[in-house]
Amino acid sequence: MNELDLYTDLIMESANSNLHKHTIENATASEHGHNPSCGDDITIQIKCDNGVIEDIAFTGVGCAISQSSTSIMIDVLIGKTLIQAKEVVKNFINLIKREKLTKKQVASLGNAIAFENISNMPARVKCATMPWHTMESLLTKINELLTK
Ligand code: ZN
Repeated sequence: MNELDLYTDLIMESANSNLHKHTIENATASEHGHNPSCGDDITIQIKCDNGVIEDIAFTGVGCAISQSSTSIMIDVLIGKTLIQAKEVVKNFINLIKREKLTKKQVASLGNAIAFENISNMPARVKCATMPWHTMESLLTKINELLTK
């Protein structure tokens, strides 16, 4: 089994995981994201306390890549501070753009590194990055809420 197969397994496994697929009561904020080219459509909810992400969950539909990317992203971000989460999201987007990351930045991505070679499938790039862009605007939204 080569590295790509291992990653494919991880992606497929996460696509079928319902661990983070639910709604959160008293969420701090939520954001809708969609990728018209594929039909992926999700809503992400986040709950934070004192600058720390206590929980993230999502609802919606989409292809295996988008559902898996959302699920893995949530796994990686729960427990992080809002500042750390912003960094991780930036690192992921840079990874997909094939920008050079430091070892520490790669490590911050956890299992999301499975999407490293998604740029070899240009049609699927938006599926993988859509949840992360949605999270990016969600984090900006929270920042605005907190500085009000
Ligand atoms: Zn898709």
